[in-house]
This record gives sequence, structure tokens and C-alpha cells, in this order.
Amino acid sequence: MTLPIDASSTAEEAVATVEQWIRTEVPESWRAAAADGHRALRAVRTPEDYRRWYPAFASTGLVAPTWLPEHGGLGVSNEVARAIETVLAPLRLTRLNPLGLNNAAAALFSHGTEEQRLRFLPPIVRNEEKWCQLFSEPGAGSDLASLATRAVADGDEWVITGQKVWTTWADEADFGILLARTDPEQPKHRGITYFLLNMHQPGVEVRPLRQITGEREFNEVFLDGARVPDAHRVGDLNDGWRVSASTLSVERQMVSGSGSGGMGRLGGSSTQRLITLAQETGRWSDPVIRAKVMRLWAQEKVRGWTNARVRAALKAGQSPGAASSIGKVHQATLNQQIQDLMVDLSGTAALAWPATDDTDALPRDVQGWMRSLANGTEGGTTDINKNILGERVLGLPREPDPWKGKPWKDIPRS
Ligand SMILES: Cc1cc2nc3c(=O)[nH]c(=O)nc-3n(C[C@H](O)[C@H](O)[C@H](O)COP(=O)(O)OP(=O)(O)OC[C@H]3O[C@@H](n4cnc5c(N)ncnc54)[C@H](O)[C@@H]3O)c2cc1C
Repeated sequence: MTLPIDASSTAEEAVATVEQWIRTEVPESWRAAAADGHRALRAVRTPEDYRRWYPAFASTGLVAPTWLPEHGGLGVSNEVARAIETVLAPLRLTRLNPLGLNNAAAALFSHGTEEQRLRFLPPIVRNEEKWCQLFSEPGAGSDLASLATRAVADGDEWVITGQKVWTTWADEADFGILLARTDPEQPKHRGITYFLLNMHQPGVEVRPLRQITGEREFNEVFLDGARVPDAHRVGDLNDGWRVSASTLSVERQMVSGSGSGGMGRLGGSSTQRLITLAQETGRWSDPVIRAKVMRLWAQEKVRGWTNARVRAALKAGQSPGAASSIGKVHQATLNQQIQDLMVDLSGTAALAWPATDDTDALPRDVQGWMRSLANGTEGGTTDINKNILGERVLGLPREPDPWKGKPWKDIPRS
């Protein structure tokens, strides 16, 4: 049930309504545990509990409060949304479907039609249609614009053939945002078009990939004659690179933790856990350990402020653009340093655990460390983000491209 909050509500009115909703609709045990922090909440709320309860949250409009009611939100201002978030924060109501809420929605808002927004945004908010991102390919990751998946027109549909890889959650996705080449005669950044692909159809084969933690988060996706109606094309024909920029900037913010509705750290725990672990293992009195933890703690604060700056720019209606790369590079490096120290402090407990297929057997801090290894790659590698910062923030000369302006079909590919 949508809450009685709208564009005319003041922050005080919205907060009072949300507090009342929390009292009546959020399970009592979650409310009690929220006061004791993250771990206490995890103990009383399994991911399965949370998924089952989520429709009650999604139907309120609180998942994306600044979106219009017809898109699944409440239509409130950024200021009111911030006040609402402060009330919700202790409950840690993670938004499900982040690739829909962030990546797909960014493109729909910036380049989609209102008809597409009305069709796709409400089920994204309600987590009824889950999304994945079909951009990277075996031969096109950092150099994404060299992608080779083809889309060929057939009446008012497009026929898609090619291979995608690294596709997070494709195995449970209903739709995927897809970049495909529509004109090989044009230079590589042109001739790409942005589509919304229905994953449940013949010609879409998803094969899960098992990662170092034992989980299966990513997939290979083989596309062989899959179809997309032209009505599900976002932006103009051959203009997909420009459309993808909105998605990629949001993805960098999401991975760096500065996104408005996205994920926090990807892998592992914060420096607060380092302090607890040092205390538990009797290392907290060691001045060298304390100095290391303090350095990381200070950097975590700086990261929080950088993210707050990006969020403020977003909320003021500006695009942080290349500046979102700062948070991405810093977060990746910092999180890996935090998780490295976590494993150092764990001592022999991080060296061995029962040999089983059950990923739960992996100690949590080791699992976090392993997951953090991907931080320098996901959402654009650290090297590529440094290139972006060098060229677009510092104004250094652009990386040379001997194939600039040449048709994509004539450029050698790996
Ligand atoms: C956890 C995770 C989740 C992901 N989820 C998705 C997803 O859902 N959807 C999706 O489409 N993709 C996804 N990706 C893919 C991700 O965007 C790519 O892995 C990334 O862009 C790098 O591409 P690549 O792996 O092909 O590496 P490559 O581009 O082959 O790069 C290899 C190495 O060369 C370096 N390098 C390459 N070019 C340059 C250059 N010009 N200057 C300096 N160094 C360079 C890179 O930094 C890297 O170290 C995911 C990746 C990870 C790790």
C-alpha cells in the first residue's frame, strides 16, 4: 500500500508517516535487532525472510521515493527523501534488484520514452522483474565499444546474435539491458544500440560461472537469434554508446558506494569489524595494528565524504560524470586493504576450513577478502578509471587510438 506521502509533504510529515509505518509493518524482532547493529539484524533476518517481506516495503513507494508515483515512487523532493532515508537507515532495508533500480533505470530516465518508463519501472521497484546487464563480452571489457554482438533488423523487431560474459545474476533475471552492434560500417563508438532484452525466450542461453568463493554470481550468456521489439530500444538507433554512459556512471557510483539506492561495500566488512576482530584476537593492544586500523578508518571517512559529494551533485541535478571514478578507484583499493588486514588478523583461522561444497563453511572474513579481489575489476577496472581521471579531470593527453574514426568492421579484435 502506497504511503500517504506526496510531493506536497514536508520532511516532518513524511518522517512521522514512515515512523508509524515502521511501527506497524516492520517485524518487531527486526526493529529490536536494528538497535544492536548489522550482525544482530542478520541473526534475526535471513535473506529469505527479507525477500518474502520485501513486497510490503516495495508497495509503499519508499524504495525509490523521489520517483513519480506512476513509476513506483512517491514523487518527493531530494530533501524529503534524505529525511526518510535517515529514519530507514538503522533497519538496513537493502534495495533488491539493484541492476534494475540503478543501471536500467538510469538509461530509462535519461533516454527512455515515458511509455517505457511506465512499463518497466514499477515492476523494477516491486522486484517483480529482475534485471541484469549484458554489456561485457569475451573480447570487449575495458574496450567495451569494440563489442561484437550483432542486432539485425527484421520488420519491427531486432534479431540478436553474440556472446556476453560476466553477466551478474543473469540466471535469475527477467530482462537485461543490452548493447549490440547495429552498424558495423560506422566507427566503434557509433553503430551501437541500447536494448531491453527479455531473458525468457528461445535464443537466450545462460551458463553460470563458479567463482573463487564457491558462489555462482556471474554467467556467460549466449544469444542466438533472440528477439527484441523495436519498442524496447532505448534512445536512437546507433546512439547506444551515449545511452550507456548514464548506466556506466551510475554503476561506478554503485560499486563505489556513492549511489543513492545501491549497494554498500562489495565484499567484506568495515573498519568497525577490524576493531572488533583485533579485540577478539587480542591484537588491539598492539600499537602497529592500531596505527594500521586508524589509517584505514581515516581513509574510510574520506571515502564517505567523497561519496557524499557525488551524492550531493546527483541530488542537485548535476551529473558527477568523471568524478564518480574518484570514488570507484579509492573504494576498490581501500576495501582490498581493509579485507587484507582482516585476513591478517584472523591468523590461522583464515588458512583452513572444512572441505565442503557449502559456501557457508568459508569463514566470513575470508569470503569477504576473496570477494574484494574483484573490486578493482567490476564496474570498470582501476586502470581504466585512472585513465578517465587523467584525461577528463586532470586534462592530460588522451590515450592514442590508431583506429580512431575507422569503421568497426576494419579494426582488429582480440
Ligand atoms: C564482479 C564482477 C561483476 C561484473 N558484472 C558485470 C555485469 O553484470 N555485466 C557486464 O556487462 N559486465 C560485468 N563485469 C565485467 C566488467 O565490467 C569487466 O570485467 C571490466 O570492464 C574489465 O574487462 P575485462 O574483464 O574484459 O578485462 P580487460 O579489458 O581484458 O582488461 C585486462 C587488464 O588490462 C587492463 N587494461 C585494459 N585496457 C587498458 C587500458 N587502455 N589502459 C590501461 N590498462 C588497461 C585492465 O585494467 C585489466 O587489468 C563484471 C566484472 C566483475 C569482476
